[in-house]
Amino acid sequence: MPAVTADTLTLPRLPQPSEQETRWRRVTHTVTAARSLEGEGFEVRRPFPGVDLSMADPFLLLDHMGAVEYGPGEAKGTPWHPHRGFETVTYIMDGAFAHQDTTGGGGLISDGATQWMTAGAGIQHIEQPPPELVAKGGLFHGVQLWVNLPRDAKWTRPRYQDIRARDVKLLSSADGASLVRLIAGELAGHQGPGLTHTPITYLHATIAPGARLGLPWPRDFNALVYPVSGEGFAGVEERPLPEGTLAVYAGPGAGDALRVRAADRQPQAAANGWEVLILGGRPLREPVARYGPFVMNTREEIVQAFEDFQAGRMGSIPAVEVPHRTSADEPVKPQD
Ligand code: MN
Repeated sequence: MPAVTADTLTLPRLPQPSEQETRWRRVTHTVTAARSLEGEGFEVRRPFPGVDLSMADPFLLLDHMGAVEYGPGEAKGTPWHPHRGFETVTYIMDGAFAHQDTTGGGGLISDGATQWMTAGAGIQHIEQPPPELVAKGGLFHGVQLWVNLPRDAKWTRPRYQDIRARDVKLLSSADGASLVRLIAGELAGHQGPGLTHTPITYLHATIAPGARLGLPWPRDFNALVYPVSGEGFAGVEERPLPEGTLAVYAGPGAGDALRVRAADRQPQAAANGWEVLILGGRPLREPVARYGPFVMNTREEIVQAFEDFQAGRMGSIPAVEVPHRTSADEPVKPQD
């Protein structure tokens, strides 16, 4: 996949947690992602939310889009829709997604880029495959993560972070067998580019066939591992973790490090190694009231969100759509 690749020999090395002295987090359970149709009818695999929201707190939702080889005319997106009270984080590994919102933000997210949209007090946006992808078809593979905002940040001004592929912090495992792309948060003293409202860590690792990856992990974070391509195992107990299955590790306080291992043999799509997302954060432990595109603390705030949206208080859709650029280098500026 063209999500950023690099020669691990030239990268800063992560420390190897000691086998004897490390308290490894155990895997408490695994969850098979549910398949559903989103937007104008594209399929996603959704490992959470499941029945227990608290296991992923402060994360609310993960949608795995593809990998899919679109034929001409098949690629789909979403129409204009609102959000309030949280952040949508879209990471594209293959292909591209074009985005525009009612604050004038927008751009093309492609090949290892991330768009971090803080809906805050309210925003509307549209997410579409670019015209070239619709016309010609092609490979598409991405994920959208929803990150909750704490109560005092739900009314923050909407914000847009365009995290280009080259901004991602690239690191190597101690043995050089794994490439770690740190998108947001801190890992062993290294900092990813994404600005977050509460402490989280979000990374994409490529682990060579047969290799182990051990990562120091903040004690007060929860921990989730989700493979987007290939085969491997979660935890020191090596629980099988096929593509589309989420591993939930024991929660805050249960250990200082995480481990995964790539299977010795990988399918063609994971020829470079097992591709996994590893994420966690400090739980907010606040009440969650969610309905559709709004995530607040109380039911009254959800009712208010619908009223505000109906009354046009979440921005207005521009009469003319901003043309999408063919490069992810700069966000598209609103036209006068
Ligand atoms: Mn959306």
